[in-house]
Amino acid sequence: MCGIVGAVARRPVVEILLEGLQRLEYRGYDSAGLAVLAEGDGLVRHRVQGKVRDLRDHLRSHPVAGTTGIAHTRWATHGAPSERNAHPHVSGDRLAVVHNGIIENHEALRDRLEGEGYVFTSETDSETVAHLIDLHFRNARSLADAVRLAV
Ligand code: GLU
Repeated sequence: MCGIVGAVARRPVVEILLEGLQRLEYRGYDSAGLAVLAEGDGLVRHRVQGKVRDLRDHLRSHPVAGTTGIAHTRWATHGAPSERNAHPHVSGDRLAVVHNGIIENHEALRDRLEGEGYVFTSETDSETVAHLIDLHFRNARSLADAVRLAV
């Protein structure tokens, strides 16, 4: 069980994401992170092991601004509580994913995706989702189609 927040707005969303995570903190306790589409910088991700207040502290020294973002507090099922296992998980520089739950066939997916050349940077089951969507995104007409195909 985890906490997930997403925001698309006309104003910067980082504070909205952090407030949302704080309200959902009871759903995830071991790490927290966010990814924001930052003007001029593309996809920017920050993750910490610890609580939402640790993410907030981290962002004070690593400020990021953007009007679209996703955020997560993790309750680890696959992989130790750590920064590298914290969500969001990314595939390349265009896709970031937060996930709640368990990918039962993650080992088979990981083998397949590594065969396609994807390099995993976490021990989580969730990272397979990011790479699987990216794989489908190569040929899909839209991101929505790629997500549907991955599901
Ligand atoms: N299975 C995922 C992980 O261990 C998601 C856990 C959660 O729902 O927070 O990272």
